[in-house]
Amino acid sequence: MSSDPLISDADAQRVAVLSEALPYIQRFAGRRVVVKYGGAAMVREDLREAVFRDLALLACVGVQPLVVHGGGPEINQWLGKLAIEPRFHDGLRVTDAATMDVVEMVLVGRVNKQIVTGLNQVGARAVGLSGCDGGLVRARPFGDGSLGLVGDVAGVDPSVLEPLLEAGYLPVISSVAPDGEGRAHNINADTVAGELAAALQAEKLVLLTDTPGILRERQDPASLFRHLGLSEARQLIADGVVAGGMTPKTECCIRALAQGVRAAHIVDGRVPHSLLLEVFTDGGIGTMLSGSPQPRS
Ligand code: ADP
Ligand code: MG
Repeated sequence: MSSDPLISDADAQRVAVLSEALPYIQRFAGRRVVVKYGGAAMVREDLREAVFRDLALLACVGVQPLVVHGGGPEINQWLGKLAIEPRFHDGLRVTDAATMDVVEMVLVGRVNKQIVTGLNQVGARAVGLSGCDGGLVRARPFGDGSLGLVGDVAGVDPSVLEPLLEAGYLPVISSVAPDGEGRAHNINADTVAGELAAALQAEKLVLLTDTPGILRERQDPASLFRHLGLSEARQLIADGVVAGGMTPKTECCIRALAQGVRAAHIVDGRVPHSLLLEVFTDGGIGTMLSGSPQPRS
């Protein structure tokens, strides 16, 4: 690769990769990228560190990343320790008051602080928030309210984030928010990320999950949709190709795009550095959804 005997191929490649990232760094500097953090990337130690480093790198080159997270397996572990049986309905947790206490303690008290600490250890300046801080997110009951303290986003006021972002802090937001009466609700983290991206007019919404992206055949990674327009994505939901936990993901991407977010990405968090691969390469590795369909190279 290198024609100069004094430069190793590894060094030449490293510099080539950095140089190729320049147009992306220039394009995204000063823009906001909202990342929903979850799945294996939250559980496996090597992946956690890779995600934290990617986020720190984004912040370092002038992109303004924000993290929204759910609870991962920790909520069930703590419910188990406290002998509270987890219940799910259509992939959504049924949440009574006792469960909500645990959800809030685990998400806001523990998971959020672990993420903040992990990010700060690799040199980011992360700050933890939940939906209640600065009135960031207001909740209303999800659907007909039969899921208990499961919420939907009633409104977002991102003003608390502006001074943090301008000062170079990396906000880490747990998906718990109060309703009008101050009762904490657990909201799907994908949904919070999407609404936040819309409120911030973010450049990108990136959802890290444990599949390669949106697949035509759920068991076949080769059937990945690399790019979807809004109407194609809506059709996949209507046809049942997108189902289960992929439905709120795809729906929140569609809503974010309809409200002015430039692109939404569903990305495999099991692949180390998938975040950088998606943001800083033409081809990306997951599914990119955008308002104006363009083929990815
Ligand atoms: P997360 O924990 O990251 O929110 P979820 O389990 O809620 O992930 O949602 C992702 C799941 O959605 C996948 O594991 C898969 O089982 C399911 N799914 C349904 N339809 C599709 C599809 N068309 N392509 C990929 N995954 C799909
Ligand atoms: Mg989910």
